[in-house]
Amino acid sequence: MTDADLLCSLGIDPSQLDPAPPWSPHAGIERLDGSHPCACCGQPARATGAVDVPGYGRRWLDRCMPCLIATTPRGGPRAPLAETVAVLREAAREAGVALTIRTDTP
Ligand SMILES: [Zn+2]
Repeated sequence: MTDADLLCSLGIDPSQLDPAPPWSPHAGIERLDGSHPCACCGQPARATGAVDVPGYGRRWLDRCMPCLIATTPRGGPRAPLAETVAVLREAAREAGVALTIRTDTP
């Protein structure tokens, strides 16, 4: 599911979302100050993420936890573990934090 598909399934017009800056490790954390409403229901957002929609660029998709859980796509192909771990390691390196990853996969 693309970001455009996600917004379409939620009935959210991407032009109504705030523009998001280029990715950085702390941008989303700074946004979660309780001042942004959930894009789905209007309650204070407790989760945020950037979506990238052709023609609109990166936009913030702020959601409250119930809406995040209810609207997060499930299923579909799983990302390979090695790829997921590599993304986590890169994010930790960029953030300058130590990271220990434990999996149940041998
Ligand atoms: Zn909500």
